[in-house]
Amino acid sequence: MEPSATIAVSNLASELEAQGVDVVDLSVGEPDFPTPENVVEAGKDALDAGHTTYTPSSGIPALRDAITQKLRADGIDADPSELIVTPGGKQALFETVQALIGEGDEVVLLDPAWVSYEAMVKIAGGDLTRVDTTPHDFQLEPALDALGEAVSDDTQMLVVNSPSNPTGAVYSDAAMAGVRDLAVEHDIIVVSDEIYGRVTYGTEQASLASFEGMGDRTVTINGFSKAYSMTGWRLGYFHAPESVIGQAGKIHSHSVSCATNFVQHAGIEALHNTDEAVDRMRESFRERRDILIDLLADNGVDVSHPDGAFYMMLPVDDDDQAWCEAALEESHVATVPGSAFNAPGYARISYAASEDRLREAVDRLVTDGFLWRWRVIETEQANAHLFRDQKVSRVS
Ligand code: PMP
Ligand code: GLU
Repeated sequence: MEPSATIAVSNLASELEAQGVDVVDLSVGEPDFPTPENVVEAGKDALDAGHTTYTPSSGIPALRDAITQKLRADGIDADPSELIVTPGGKQALFETVQALIGEGDEVVLLDPAWVSYEAMVKIAGGDLTRVDTTPHDFQLEPALDALGEAVSDDTQMLVVNSPSNPTGAVYSDAAMAGVRDLAVEHDIIVVSDEIYGRVTYGTEQASLASFEGMGDRTVTINGFSKAYSMTGWRLGYFHAPESVIGQAGKIHSHSVSCATNFVQHAGIEALHNTDEAVDRMRESFRERRDILIDLLADNGVDVSHPDGAFYMMLPVDDDDQAWCEAALEESHVATVPGSAFNAPGYARISYAASEDRLREAVDRLVTDGFLWRWRVIETEQANAHLFRDQKVSRVS
């Protein structure tokens, strides 16, 4: 297993910053806004009120009720007894995979896929089958035939992440219905990672568990990091059929015991009273997405138009690892190699950064030839090879 590439690049960027280097960090997926003030206040109040003990392992009842209401509003037939509150969505995924996957069990991923799915499956001893959405502009609907060929009665689990990290793609209702049909036909458990569910632009993402036939075969994963800008608070949850929750609950109680007490209280406030703040952040992300797409287009680079999350895939170089290293070393722009998501040839950009920083990043990449080179190759100008050779020697 490799270390998490998203965390590794972000650590490297932080190290450079500590040395006084001005890094434009577009690597880790982390909103750059402060946590909404009322949520912070709720956390402080909870500390003052002495909420510093262990809580019931699966979470405090008031938070589980608030989460249940949210899931019901999303059309899921949710029940607080089928819910576990975790320290982050990552832990929710980890416990789910540990509970359901054993030696040799087959898990299907849709590529490009977030870095930690593969690692979690490997830790559990499972085997991976991968279906690539890259040729379909990262969309799932046109890849349904390929998915149909990949799954079988031997498939134990399928992971669906929409809006997607790293592509920003939001899957259509028809795609989700296609997933449902395959899951029912082959009796597959679907893990629906909906952590970016509130970060969509002009389109809504339907929850998989709300589709007919999916209630008893979907594990819905969510968390507070992205929508409420609460990455460091570490709060997430999963909702799953009782049989899954029963097994995962054992892992939960033996590993983390419970999520942090006062943080859970802040989570209630986040679910109840942040609609305006969430809307404002979403609007900022949308503006930044548009600015970045325009800036890249001005420099001859076309990217797939992401409809959600705050990521986009930048086509770079066959050796995306070398490209990302060089972009960090020479231009001090941090991105994550597409290979980490099983998408070689791309770099993932997290555009959860201010407009100034996005402009600065593109300026630096253009000035140092990182985008320029791509544009030249793309437009097949007569002297394209000259630039390519020049750049390759610089990288090596
Ligand atoms: N799923 C996806 C797709 C992610 O990008 C992340 C990264 N934050 C997580 C789950 C886990 O997030 P957290 O643990 O911060 O809730
Ligand atoms: N999920 C975010 C990312 O992809 C945060 C880092 C991580 O958990 O992987 O950048």
